[in-house]
Amino acid sequence: MSKVKEVDDRFKRFGTVSFTSITKTNDFIDYLEKGHVMGTRCKDCGLNFFPPRSDCHQCLSSNMEWFQITGAGKLVSYSKLEFAPIGFQEDVPYCIALLDYGEFKVFGRISDDVPEKEIKVGMEMKTAVNTLPNGQLNYVFKKS
Ligand SMILES: [Zn+2]
Repeated sequence: MSKVKEVDDRFKRFGTVSFTSITKTNDFIDYLEKGHVMGTRCKDCGLNFFPPRSDCHQCLSSNMEWFQITGAGKLVSYSKLEFAPIGFQEDVPYCIALLDYGEFKVFGRISDDVPEKEIKVGMEMKTAVNTLPNGQLNYVFKKS
């Protein structure tokens, strides 16, 4: 009898091109499938992480819990990409951005349905799950 080792590679479903298929935070994908963008919080010191991490660099604990990214973050900065890295050539132009949620920040892409002229540093945006045409999952920033 041969025993096949099962590999938890749920993370390969993330993003236009997934460069990572295995992480300790694979549940992130299950939450995306349910429509929730999640970060992790250290239960020992309270530090919030996005992208989610399973180990805390502040207190070295692995006692983590999931929390949902809800409400609005403030647009700190954004950049319009005219040239894309390998795997993203079909997507340009698009805007990458950073939202400040106070205790953590979220880096991601602004949704295509937000007109560029309406994008302003300091505006409030929300983070939402997005399904790509190829079935992959990611999250995007939308108008709040
Ligand atoms: Zn901690």
